[in-house]
Amino acid sequence: MSDQSASDRSTIVVALAGNPNAGKTSLFNKLTGLRAHVGNYPGVTVEQKWGHLEYQGRSIKVVDLPGAYSLNSYSLDERVARDFIINERPDLVVNVVDSTNLERNLYLTLQFLELGLPTIVALNMMDVAVARGLNIDLTRLESGLNVRAVPLVATSGQGLDELLSCILEVADRPDKDWRPLEISYGADIDATLGQIQAQVAASTLPVDRMPARWLAVKYLEGDPAVEQLVTAEAPELLEPLAPVRTKLRVHLRATEDDELDGAMTDRRYGFLSGLRRVAVTQTRRDTREISDTIDRVLLNRLVSPIFFLVVIYGLYQFTFWASAPLTGWLENFFEFLSETVSGAMSDGLLKDLLREGIIGGVGGVLGFAPLIAFMFAGISILEDSGYMARVAFILDRIFRAFGLHGNSVVGLIVGGGIAGGCAIPGVMAARTLRDPKERIATILVTPFMTCGAKLPVFLMLVGAFFPDHQALVMMGLTLFAWALALVSARLLRTFLLPGASAPFVLELPPYRLPTLTGILLHAWERTWSYVKKAGTVIVAVTIVIWMMMNFPRLPEEEQAVFDDRLTVVENQLEQATDEAAKASLEAARSAISLEGDSAALRHSLAGRLGSGLTPLSELIGFDWRANIALVGGFAAKEVVLSTLGTAYAMSPEAAPAADDESGDEAGGSEEDALILSLGARLAAESAWSPLAAVSLMVFVLVYAPCFATVAVIRKEIGNRWAIFSMVANTVYAYLICLVIYQGGHWLGLG
Ligand code: GDP
Ligand code: MG
Repeated sequence: MSDQSASDRSTIVVALAGNPNAGKTSLFNKLTGLRAHVGNYPGVTVEQKWGHLEYQGRSIKVVDLPGAYSLNSYSLDERVARDFIINERPDLVVNVVDSTNLERNLYLTLQFLELGLPTIVALNMMDVAVARGLNIDLTRLESGLNVRAVPLVATSGQGLDELLSCILEVADRPDKDWRPLEISYGADIDATLGQIQAQVAASTLPVDRMPARWLAVKYLEGDPAVEQLVTAEAPELLEPLAPVRTKLRVHLRATEDDELDGAMTDRRYGFLSGLRRVAVTQTRRDTREISDTIDRVLLNRLVSPIFFLVVIYGLYQFTFWASAPLTGWLENFFEFLSETVSGAMSDGLLKDLLREGIIGGVGGVLGFAPLIAFMFAGISILEDSGYMARVAFILDRIFRAFGLHGNSVVGLIVGGGIAGGCAIPGVMAARTLRDPKERIATILVTPFMTCGAKLPVFLMLVGAFFPDHQALVMMGLTLFAWALALVSARLLRTFLLPGASAPFVLELPPYRLPTLTGILLHAWERTWSYVKKAGTVIVAVTIVIWMMMNFPRLPEEEQAVFDDRLTVVENQLEQATDEAAKASLEAARSAISLEGDSAALRHSLAGRLGSGLTPLSELIGFDWRANIALVGGFAAKEVVLSTLGTAYAMSPEAAPAADDESGDEAGGSEEDALILSLGARLAAESAWSPLAAVSLMVFVLVYAPCFATVAVIRKEIGNRWAIFSMVANTVYAYLICLVIYQGGHWLGLG
């Protein structure tokens, strides 16, 4: 990623930092004019954006730090921000703060100032502050923090020039040493702090990179990264320091009934509260902030759940309604492409590979893109407006019981918590989670939801085996998915990802009208990152699965049998004159060709795998055909239905519904027809029972996520968890189905 180097002094390196929603992205875009480069911070999957600009003949490089509330090291984003500052030593930090909420925003500022690096506070949202009658006394603020502050409206660019000249001024300051701000933590803590600071300063710790005062503060707070640093680089310090800290802890518990780190946080807020009192005045008393008024209604016990459901329902409606035309357009385009290839090439393997493997694969990847774009546009509206923070707030208590976080709900709902979502944006939505373990757990259980691709399978089976209770069974499945996700999260958090939850910071940012550019940009960034990174993997895997389902080919003599039968029928067809005979011959022709496809599928690697697995799968009610379909479902869950169709030699054309005069056109989409015909066929098959159908539905719900999702999981939390989700989910699905199927038999439900 970074090509900036501290030695290259002609370019000024500016790190952009701030709380989420403070306006960092808006400022970044104004500064760099949308020409952003995107990469990753070294060693982690956190995205780094940077851009260049010229100002008064100087070259400035702007690096966007992850949004953060503090610089503690227990959340990934904050650790990344902190490591970047310490290791890369940017020339200065421009800390974007929301002027309407100074006290909370300046907490992060304090952290930069304690670290000592040159900082400029960009007092953003000045337009809103002014509208609310807030009056910020710049001189007092600057002298209170010993820092430069520049008023700004990032969305309009007002104040940008002043900010840029301030950047040059600070960067060119002759003495550019880091000068940490020393705030008082009260007599008790200050005394110990001084003692530790002195020992640290005299030690072998890298105090040239991290001020001794800061190291001492962080050590007292029990910061894990600093703890590690001391253990690794100055172990001789541990013996004298640890008892000093323990003594202070005990003392604080006794005198103030408070933990040390909590007391230090309180002190910082106390400092800021004092600062606000002298630096901020409200000229016009707007009796109650609008946000408070809105919250009085929206956070009301009775209203909040209803409003929440309405909003989420709206998000879905919006997403599917808005993306449908584009999705349809893409579908048509790929169909057209596939037909063009068909027309231009002679029959054969290469053509099939191009059509079904490559065009199908690319089409599959891009097919999700409009959905992701609109889903994230919607989520971005909810986030930017401030409502998402309220959702987390409402649900945090429930989710906490399962080891998750209020914010986890977004991913779960988007992933199909209301039937019809998609796990890919669901997994990506977990980015808002600050605690890495909560984030991993959320990501891992998101694929258990009833995503849109699983729905056709469920609809087919429910229609065939539970015709009188369709809605009830579908609802049962959805509830089962939720219960499973929550219970699994609890299991993960207990056994694989133990640890306390990150403290829930009760952040209720003010409501704000989102801007169009912000929404478009968020949607674009996430969609593009999906298409780029997931695309390659998904296409490759689609091709592999396609090969598995097509190789090895039927032996020639077997293929010849079908070919001969086809030729016979085709000859008859040519001679046939009356319509009725023609129709029945055509039906016979497609039946033979389907029989051939079915035999070929059985002969293929996937077919053999399916047959090979029957001893295991019989125990949960699946025959070899279902097994192949499930193997195909690894590529994409949509494939389950179409593969079952091929395995049972059923096709959309063979649908009973298409028998009548009106022909194919009236029967709805091909998928609807397949659902009908395949359902009827399975219901008539003696090997299939309602119990087996339930087992299959549960298996499809739980087993390995589709490859697109696995690719995204890999991108978000790494290889290990991606593989885990494939293997563990499949084993998990098997065990659950074993209980359902065998238990059902035992109860006499088979
Ligand atoms: P980030 O999370 O820090 O990157 O914040 P964004 O740049 O995405 O901004 C969050 C929201 O605040 C968006 O809807 C912006 O349009 C809006 N916003 C940002 N800066 C200003 C500003 O100076 N004035 C006003 N009124 N809105 C702003
Ligand atoms: Mg942003």
